[in-house]
Amino acid sequence: MMSMENELQQRSESSCELCKSTDALSVYEIPNSPTSGAEAAVYICQVCKDQIEDPEKVEPNHWRCLNDSMWSTVPAVQVMAWRMLNRLRAEGWPQDLLDMMYLEEETAEWAKAGVVEAEEEENLIIHRDSNGVVLEAGDSVILIKDLKVKGSSMIAKQGTAVRRISLDQENEKFIEGRVDGQHIVIITDFVKKI
Ligand SMILES: [Zn+2]
Repeated sequence: MMSMENELQQRSESSCELCKSTDALSVYEIPNSPTSGAEAAVYICQVCKDQIEDPEKVEPNHWRCLNDSMWSTVPAVQVMAWRMLNRLRAEGWPQDLLDMMYLEEETAEWAKAGVVEAEEEENLIIHRDSNGVVLEAGDSVILIKDLKVKGSSMIAKQGTAVRRISLDQENEKFIEGRVDGQHIVIITDFVKKI
């Protein structure tokens, strides 16, 4: 059996699969890959590897090499090219290359794995009261108007305190709490944090 490194040396013809350098080549296993082994790895030089692993070291011009390597027929190379172009897209030219790039559906999903996660983390849902004050689970609020409670004849009166609220993780407009022993959903526009 051929080792993964040998397999990659052959595939790459012993040059960096991203920038064609022949110096200091090694195996880089692509994070967030659906498979493992050579098909989920690229054979790259130390310059590329350092910049991939440490975003602060990135020199955008080094990655002009992707202009060629993005056309590789190897999905692993396409994925790394896509991810680096995506990381650099604010430079302008990488966005142009991304727009030209064609990926099979599976490869596109693989390329976006991890990237999407990072973006979702940034878009965490934040609940705010009627004044824009951030609400956290366990906070207390008062109602700033009378609210009809859905599915019952109850009216939750303006000025009622709702203690130890919980937050709807899917919707930034909804919080939950107890009023007169009843568990109700309240719209954040109608509460004020106390
Ligand atoms: Zn390289």
